[in-house]
Amino acid sequence: MLYRDLLPLPRELRKLRRASRSLSGFVLLLGLSGRTLGLGHHTVLFPENYDAEFDAVFGPAARPVPDPTLYISNPADDTVRPPGQEAWFVLVNAPRQGQVNWREPGLADRYAERLLAKLADRGLDVRDRLRFAKTITPADLQDRTGAVGGAIYGTSSNGARAAFLRPANKSVVPGLFLVGGSSHPGGGLPLVLLSAQLTAGLVGSEKHR
Ligand SMILES: Cc1cc2nc3c(=O)[nH]c(=O)nc-3n(C[C@H](O)[C@H](O)[C@H](O)COP(=O)(O)OP(=O)(O)OC[C@H]3O[C@@H](n4cnc5c(N)ncnc54)[C@H](O)[C@@H]3O)c2cc1C
Repeated sequence: MLYRDLLPLPRELRKLRRASRSLSGFVLLLGLSGRTLGLGHHTVLFPENYDAEFDAVFGPAARPVPDPTLYISNPADDTVRPPGQEAWFVLVNAPRQGQVNWREPGLADRYAERLLAKLADRGLDVRDRLRFAKTITPADLQDRTGAVGGAIYGTSSNGARAAFLRPANKSVVPGLFLVGGSSHPGGGLPLVLLSAQLTAGLVGSEKHR
């Protein structure tokens, strides 16, 4: 975003144009009455055809994944759920905003219904326990975080050269630093913390004009 919206792209960073972005995600936040017997904190429910999921997210005809892998977080933590109820965070892989227009009226709600049906297909029918449901689409992630298209991990990590396509922590403007998932060394919380550590070490280590 810095080199797209705020600063001209410097010659030495033109390689950034070749970088592809990582995938996004679609989130369902569910408030459920009652408790689900035997459901742990973390659950991953895989689809029958895992390859089809990758085709839907990364293929030329990107679309909301019809039958996605479903990740469910169901924390046994009374600070995030009322007594006798559950607060689920459900995450599926999704194409970025732009590949799919997640702002299309009704799309997020229709897709949420589909995911609830898929949960039911895989043995977790919670539709009659729903007290609350909220969606977070790739467009919402883009709006909230500034990540282009709602890409969760900045530029894609695919390929041996991907690491070299990320912008360095020191920008072309003296005293301006880049930190976080879209800069070196990459996305995901462990790497973002490493990025912060590296950048903290750079700040003040150079003479500024
Ligand atoms: C649904 C989801 C699930 C994920 N799951 C995992 C996981 O299980 N494990 C993992 O390692 N990683 C996960 N990630 C990725 C991880 O969250 C990111 O890699 C990480 O948060 C990136 O950190 P960041 O500091 O670069 O950006 P962010 O965490 O996005 O922080 C950027 C902050 O800057 C603010 N901001 C943006 N623009 C402005 C502005 N103009 N002025 C002021 N503030 C602004 C935003 O509001 C935001 O608070 C997940 C991401 C998502 C979206």
